[in-house]
Amino acid sequence: MDKGYFGKILWINLSQGEIEFKDINISDETYRQYIGGYGLGCKILFEHMKPKIDPFSENSLLGFFPGLLTGTMASLTGRYMVVGKSPLTGSWGDANSGGTFGPEIKKCGYDGIIIEGKADTPKYVSIIEGQKEIIDASEIWGSNIVTAEERLQEKHGKYIKTAGIGQAGEKLSKISGIVNDRGRIAARCGLGAIMGSKNLKALILKGSEKIPIYDKKRLIDLTKEYNKVVGQEEPGFFSKLILNIIPNMGKLLRRLGVNMAGSGGLVRTIYHNFGTSLANTLSAEIGDSPVKNWGGIGQYDFPMEKSKAISANEIIEYKLKEYGCFSCPIQCGGICKVPELDLEETHQPEYETCAAFGTMLLNNDLMSLFKINEMCNRAGLDTISTGTTVAFAIECFENGILNLEDTDGLDLSWGNSEAIVAIVKKIIDREGIGDLLADGVKIAAQKIGKGSEKYAIESMGQEIAMHNPRLLNSLAFSYAYDPTPGRHTTASIDYLEMAKIDKNKYIEGFSYPKGWKKEDKKKVKAQKLTTELHQIISCAGLCQFTSFFGKYPLVEFINAYTGWDISLEELLRSGYRIQTLRQAFAVREGINFGENELPGRVTGHPPDERGPTKGISVEYKQFYRDYCKEMGWNEENGYPLKETLNKLDLEFAIKDLY
Ligand code: SF4
Repeated sequence: MDKGYFGKILWINLSQGEIEFKDINISDETYRQYIGGYGLGCKILFEHMKPKIDPFSENSLLGFFPGLLTGTMASLTGRYMVVGKSPLTGSWGDANSGGTFGPEIKKCGYDGIIIEGKADTPKYVSIIEGQKEIIDASEIWGSNIVTAEERLQEKHGKYIKTAGIGQAGEKLSKISGIVNDRGRIAARCGLGAIMGSKNLKALILKGSEKIPIYDKKRLIDLTKEYNKVVGQEEPGFFSKLILNIIPNMGKLLRRLGVNMAGSGGLVRTIYHNFGTSLANTLSAEIGDSPVKNWGGIGQYDFPMEKSKAISANEIIEYKLKEYGCFSCPIQCGGICKVPELDLEETHQPEYETCAAFGTMLLNNDLMSLFKINEMCNRAGLDTISTGTTVAFAIECFENGILNLEDTDGLDLSWGNSEAIVAIVKKIIDREGIGDLLADGVKIAAQKIGKGSEKYAIESMGQEIAMHNPRLLNSLAFSYAYDPTPGRHTTASIDYLEMAKIDKNKYIEGFSYPKGWKKEDKKKVKAQKLTTELHQIISCAGLCQFTSFFGKYPLVEFINAYTGWDISLEELLRSGYRIQTLRQAFAVREGINFGENELPGRVTGHPPDERGPTKGISVEYKQFYRDYCKEMGWNEENGYPLKETLNKLDLEFAIKDLY
């Protein structure tokens, strides 16, 4: 019977003398309990990886998992996830990317791929129309991943899909990711370095298996219906007018306290036209973007007069065409041509990149942003982590902790775009000061000492994303305590609430307890619900922006795809299980969540004396303790309790944790 998934994953062993490829069957119950994506990945890695393993060791596993719905026409479901033990944090690691690579895993007839072992010399794995090979990669080792992809296409045909590492992953940079589609990147948690440690340059895929969808007609009907609402509208006269002035409306938005979420056509049109870079100027003005390594205030240190040089309007002047992930009617990305830099085709820089290398560094040189974006995409570097690391280096330099001799002669002053580009190049090459910085701020601060720790903005070793918890409070909680800390794309109630959950504007039947905004106890319950839903959204392969585009038929899509008759309640329970297992993985590695603390600059300790976040400090520790209680985890250290593990069918974790 067609049930959507293939029921198997491909296990690849790179070590010589081992069986290279084997199929592993996955039970129906496992899909229902772990859905797909990192949920399925976490289940497999938890069971097959020894606790406290060195992420770079031969037995460390690296997984590639498309979401449950990925590869189908269901709207905005083209995402896949890379999983492993994070070399950056020592905790559970997962990272998410769009584009077209995830669907190709399905077209090869698999629901996931696991890499084990270590090749003795550089290799790449080819899975083309059922033929599987491990091939010598010496000709592409050392090259950036865009060039490598071009060479692989010359050899294997232009329709292959590639995920691989650039120079940063090869050099085991702990802030490196895995790149697909020449510039989409599963960036966070340093998983590119695991691929490098395995001497694995790339996976190339091409398949033509049909996904065994249970009720194809229903899936098509649901997709058409959804796309009609968000996908096909073109802006009318007034929308066009608004679009032109929006990037310059920061001051007004600050005064009005307007947020970006809403349903239907206009939000879709904004994303389609500007992508996330719309936020470049607005977020600095309203106090969302971190400024000057989280030590500044947008409206004073990087006001509109300066930031407008990197606004979305400036960026889209260079746009050649829209671009987006598989099955997405929004197409929020862009491909740009930048003659000033001789770039014929380059990905439009996203907000996180522009904030990390612009606002954070007081840099309004647009050309430097295009250049750095292209460099990081080719090298496979996480731009949030790299920009934060450069901000750290600048602040050390400005405060005399690093001098010209330490920086190889680079004048690391705020906003010096030439020096910023030069230091990124050094990080990619691990050359001079770049070697010191290539593993992120925490390790750099440990090596430098001299009080530099106070300029290292990180959580458990991972650099913090470009959104200020003083605006969306619960981000502090998720930055501090998600098993993959420091990320804005983990479960955070104030972030999800932008989807107007209370007005039932997102997932039918999903709502928070009445009065949750006023009562802490209810807010904790609402956060648990957010956590559960978030795991399902991710593991089904949905783009998180779905929450901005109005009602999404999540349960209906899943049932049409699988033939299950699953309820929202059961899905949320699976989400609860997945997050508890991610947590169990992290604590098994020795992470003590109770000890973690965010830098005071991030949470407003002390608070700003002026500006949009004046007087605001975020308290998040008690909220976490209460949340642990609600989740059935130990409040002191985050350990899932035995009875919780039992009730969620996670008994297999008990022997490792207790
Ligand atoms: S909205 Fe953007 S990021 Fe999300 S699926 Fe569409 S193209 Fe990809």
